[in-house]
Amino acid sequence: MKKRLHNPNLAKIHRSYTVEEVASLYVVYKGTVRAWIKAGLSTINDKRPMLILGRDLVAFHQARRTKNKQTCRPGEIYCVRCRAPKVPAGDMADCNFVNDKILNLVAICPDCDTIMNQRVSLAKLELIRRKMDISLPQALQHIVDSNQASVNSDLKQG
Ligand SMILES: [Zn+2]
Repeated sequence: MKKRLHNPNLAKIHRSYTVEEVASLYVVYKGTVRAWIKAGLSTINDKRPMLILGRDLVAFHQARRTKNKQTCRPGEIYCVRCRAPKVPAGDMADCNFVNDKILNLVAICPDCDTIMNQRVSLAKLELIRRKMDISLPQALQHIVDSNQASVNSDLKQG
């Protein structure tokens, strides 16, 4: 599935927008805007109607354009607001399944408190877990532990 990239400059930085306004501005469904919010687009607060700052919209779409050029090392997650890879606050992240091979890490940027999201493969999770404290869903705990058991079996048998 190919991501559509939107012109970051559509939004006026000094305005705030409702989800509906963002949807009509970028000619997308409201569900798409909610997906952006889930993917790290900041909202002003949790009150309704939800408002999004123009400058956050601009930053979010600029970040999507440049995201591929920025490489996060293990232990870092890309912050859309800072536009840089960040070590999460407290070296902590939550994670949930995207599918059986891909996970989504959710953490807080230490500099701007923005929610950061990062997709990682299950295969890479172990590497990342050495760098940060990841709260695993119950089901995954089992998978990771059994993976680890096979990797470490030599050590454990000794
Ligand atoms: Zn940040």
